[in-house]
Amino acid sequence: CGIVGYVGSQSALDVVMAGLKRLEYRGYDSAGVAVLADGGLASAKKAGKLVNLEKELLERPLPAGGTGIGHTRWATHGGPTDANAHPHVDNAGRVAVVHNGIIENFALLRAELVERGHDLTSETDTEVVAHLLAEEFSVTADLAEAMRLVCRRLEGAFTLVAVHADAPDVVVGARRNSPLVVGVGEGEAFLASDVAAFIAHTRSAVELGQDQVVELRRDGVTVTGFDGSPAEVRFYHVDWDASA
Ligand code: GLU
Repeated sequence: CGIVGYVGSQSALDVVMAGLKRLEYRGYDSAGVAVLADGGLASAKKAGKLVNLEKELLERPLPAGGTGIGHTRWATHGGPTDANAHPHVDNAGRVAVVHNGIIENFALLRAELVERGHDLTSETDTEVVAHLLAEEFSVTADLAEAMRLVCRRLEGAFTLVAVHADAPDVVVGARRNSPLVVGVGEGEAFLASDVAAFIAHTRSAVELGQDQVVELRRDGVTVTGFDGSPAEVRFYHVDWDASA
């Protein structure tokens, strides 16, 4: 229901948690975060309000890192449990993905993954994306390209945001029939389902177009179509009142 991503020199966990709080008004039943740190991926997720996740993070702190993603979930496939909360992670624990929307053809993709030996541990439509990204990344070693390849196989409405432990300082997002906004600051970049999540940090924003993938790095963003064609990036200034 709400998505936040960050890459930069601040604590990604702090930026992402603050962003998720700004999106709380949308309603949600679970929340989770993932950060890249020390060459690995660490994540935490909990059913219930953000305070449950905050408690979990106090009991089991994540290592500090400058790249991270977060999610508040409004369950469509699978009940509101810890296991079904996002992020979803591949079996090697290297890639994490969060998702808003519905992947219509997940049952077929899931059956194919199981046949190829993947172990799926949730009831969500989202989890297939983590496994598919891991497969594509193992061939391309390029997370944006892996995301484009996966998106071309998905049907439905989705905003997807992912990180991979072997792609440090990169966050990748994609959208079809579901909103995603990118924010760019000095040496840092943000993305979210709503500008409210990052307006405290930057007012320079780009609305991602239909069937586009964005790669976020500290030094800027690159936008392409699902087919890999370069897309024009047009920034606008967000001028509504952050205190509203
Ligand atoms: N369909 C996904 C799920 O049920 C995402 C729901 C959402 O938009 O939060 O986990």
